[in-house]
Amino acid sequence: MTEIGLNGSDRIKSVAMLKHVIDQCFRDISPSCMVCTDPDCLGYIWVLPEEEGVFLDIGARTVQINGSQGPIFIDNYPRSADGNLIIDPKQTRCPYRDNNGRCTVHAARPLACHLYPLGIQTHPTEGYVWALHRDCHYVRAKEREGNIGELLDELYGIIDRLDPSVSAQIYEVYDKVEAISGRDGESTYYILLPLTRSGTVKKNSLAKGSYKTHP
Ligand code: SF4
Repeated sequence: MTEIGLNGSDRIKSVAMLKHVIDQCFRDISPSCMVCTDPDCLGYIWVLPEEEGVFLDIGARTVQINGSQGPIFIDNYPRSADGNLIIDPKQTRCPYRDNNGRCTVHAARPLACHLYPLGIQTHPTEGYVWALHRDCHYVRAKEREGNIGELLDELYGIIDRLDPSVSAQIYEVYDKVEAISGRDGESTYYILLPLTRSGTVKKNSLAKGSYKTHP
């Protein structure tokens, strides 16, 4: 494993650094994951272009939708009889999660997996915003225990230190993911803007396209 030396005020200039500080921030998440009964590791698990090589090197599979500039996902999609992808987040369990709920590609898992329950959402007035899922067992436990403020402060610190080049890379992929994800409906989050506030975010609607699997 690569050691990353980083102190609490350093700017986060790479995806690897971001993974490191997020893992530190969610260092006490495991007990919640062990007792969580929600379906997990489902849906649109995106992979940054710079992460794909590591992922393929361990024998995992990805799929790229809408041509060579399209978003890349862990290939967890079933196919219809005519070979098209069936993009239904409820049917798309990650193939790298074992029957005991463990991630079998843990060291190579993409940023999207490190980040959860933190994610990016499209806010009706603010554009892209970082958002903490309040439907996560861990976040609910922090709320119950009165420790949510500490967690939000730590996440603010991370987002503040994110180099714009890293955010831009993530937003670019998120933009493409949103264009095909077809996730309708509303969810409740802590929206990580300069002022903490709870809110609902309406997700974008569906647009589909072609795909190519890797390798
Ligand atoms: S790569 Fe691992 S953590 Fe990510 S969705 Fe798959 S099983 Fe879950």
